[in-house]
Amino acid sequence: MKPARGDRTGDRAASAGLLSRLLEALEDDCAVCGGTGSTPNEQWLAWHRRAGELIAVAQAARRAHEWRPVPGVPPAAAPERVAAAEPAIVTAVERAIDDHMRARPDEPEEERCTACRGLGKELTPAGREFAEVLARHGFVRRERD
Ligand SMILES: [Zn+2]
Repeated sequence: MKPARGDRTGDRAASAGLLSRLLEALEDDCAVCGGTGSTPNEQWLAWHRRAGELIAVAQAARRAHEWRPVPGVPPAAAPERVAAAEPAIVTAVERAIDDHMRARPDEPEEERCTACRGLGKELTPAGREFAEVLARHGFVRRERD
């Protein structure tokens, strides 16, 4: 019996589904960069960590100092006066923060992932086998390691 038209369409959809499942089985998101193709620069990570520490120290110093209300001065106008009365520790920490802000690394914050060379994808074991088959038949050049 000749298959109905609808069945052929169904077959095509099924093989398309099969192919996409096959392709999905060949590669995975890169485990190193999580599929983004880039990784954060180490110097920037250290810079952000240090910035976070400095800000935490500044907040602690401020809390310890606790801005005292100045009698007769509305709170909105108070900061300048309070700044003058800030203890040396707050000033020192703020200077350290300013220095740190100026000492940003020159390099870009993100660099190309070395594990996947920026692809964001890596071959699964099945993908490597498939590449071997293609290489054996001359369809792909072997990677130079
Ligand atoms: Zn990667």
